[in-house]
Amino acid sequence: MQKPTDVIVKITRTTICGTDLHILKGDVPAVTEGRTLGHEGVGVVEAVGSAVENFKPGDTVLVSCVTSCGKCANCKRQLYAHCADGGWILGHLIDGTQAEYVRIPHGDNSLYPVPAGADEEALVMLSDIMPTGLEIGVQAGGVKPGDTIAIVGAGPVGMSILLTAQFYSPGRIIMIDMDPSRLALARQFGATDTIQVGAEDAVARVLEMTGSLGVDVAIEAVGVPATFDICQKIVSAGGNIANVGVHGKPVELHIEELWIKNINISMGLVCTSTTPMLLKTLSSGKLDPARLVTHRFAMDDILHAYEVFGNAAREKAIKVIINA
Ligand code: NAD
Ligand code: ZN
Repeated sequence: MQKPTDVIVKITRTTICGTDLHILKGDVPAVTEGRTLGHEGVGVVEAVGSAVENFKPGDTVLVSCVTSCGKCANCKRQLYAHCADGGWILGHLIDGTQAEYVRIPHGDNSLYPVPAGADEEALVMLSDIMPTGLEIGVQAGGVKPGDTIAIVGAGPVGMSILLTAQFYSPGRIIMIDMDPSRLALARQFGATDTIQVGAEDAVARVLEMTGSLGVDVAIEAVGVPATFDICQKIVSAGGNIANVGVHGKPVELHIEELWIKNINISMGLVCTSTTPMLLKTLSSGKLDPARLVTHRFAMDDILHAYEVFGNAAREKAIKVIINA
């Protein structure tokens, strides 16, 4: 405990996320040696600071991947990732959830109460990937009933976009990836069409499927220039591009083509402002994110879990759960 607003959580379930692999590879700046990774978690409150009002020891909680005070100007606009006193992604600038205990700064605003006995594998998907898909992909992309949408990237984040897009009843969901097994899974999760990059020309196929019009919303969920470029080429006049992927390199923006088509582009960091809505949707049975879980490991076996997740395509891994 460092501050009166801190909550200490005993972790029961956490995960490995692609961002952890980026940190290990050295792709993420400002991560210091010895940092405890992990930013998705469910657990039980062990201790609370003197200023904490919403939680007490013994409460079961969902951990948000980003901590926020809830009171500053940015937090009042629900831009929690830009909190003036936090906005820390756990496992990045502060220690994270791949541990027995985690310290959550501003616990009142950075944790969510959940019913004891709820499906923790489903809940832990709400720490990061589900709000990312919903906020930065589906809502920022303005998905509407009847829309034709394309999601480029069928990883855990692309799959979360696929599941949450269905809240808005799009008419057609085209999933684009290079991995045929992920595309097969996407069909099970509600994709109406799939395109395998490498085997097919994604742009030509989308234009063929849409009578040359393109898609109403193109969502980028990979983070490389080639997939952003697909989005620029398949979006229809008046359509939206929602960029979710984290780009390590600059992308080429074809303003000359996008301008003449009246295209809107959105992008940003997940703020987990939709977590309360996702919790309600989960309890109503309209969302089943536990479907994304392919592997489970004990915390003591986490190095093995990293090996499996690091070879996700070969191991057919989507989400890997670590049980305390
Ligand atoms: P992932 O690496 O597990 O999945 C990416 C998918 O893209 C894979 O299925 C892969 O086969 C596919 N792919 C790779 N190159 C491709 C290509 N050229 N054409 C078509 N498909 C290709 O990643 P993830 O965990 O699902 O995350 C997706 C992106 O979202 C990452 O860039 C991640 O950093 C980002 N992300 C953003 C936020 C945010 O706040 N905006 C939050 C979490 C994750
Ligand atoms: Zn704040």
